[in-house]
Amino acid sequence: MKADFWNEGLQFTCQRCSRCCRHDPGVVFLSAFEIITIARHLSCSVKAFLNQYCRPIYNASGYRVSLQEKQNFDCIFWESGTGCSIYTVRPIQCSTFPFWETLLRNKIIWDEEAKYCPGINKGILHDASHIQKCLDERNQYPILQFSYSVLWETLDENSILGN
Ligand code: SF4
Repeated sequence: MKADFWNEGLQFTCQRCSRCCRHDPGVVFLSAFEIITIARHLSCSVKAFLNQYCRPIYNASGYRVSLQEKQNFDCIFWESGTGCSIYTVRPIQCSTFPFWETLLRNKIIWDEEAKYCPGINKGILHDASHIQKCLDERNQYPILQFSYSVLWETLDENSILGN
């Protein structure tokens, strides 16, 4: 194993403050696997799920698929009183937080994130194998990326599986 600052593990226990799911603008990028899993959980087609709950986020080479937000920037699946309404099939970005490649680059970035998330550096010590598992899961189900030539309106199960 290479010498990462997290080789001895990292502490994290969610404090349930909801800060990562509510109040501020953000994106929750999805893979084909997650889109199909959540659509099936909601008993709707992929096309209906994309139109009702997702939005394209544009970049230099095309766009990615993200969950929508409500007008107040809460996640589209956030419900007051119960929290995440799709918790059992929540996106990998949510279930693996904060063990993301971008936050594990170095200790400075990790500690900066702790200013935003009060669960970081607190509570349960997650060992390196758990952290690696989170990184592997993201790599196993890569975030979808479409070129501009693929119109959002035409996306369906076949097109996301063929991506
Ligand atoms: S910001 Fe951190 S502590 Fe707050 S809900 Fe999200 S993961 Fe939990």
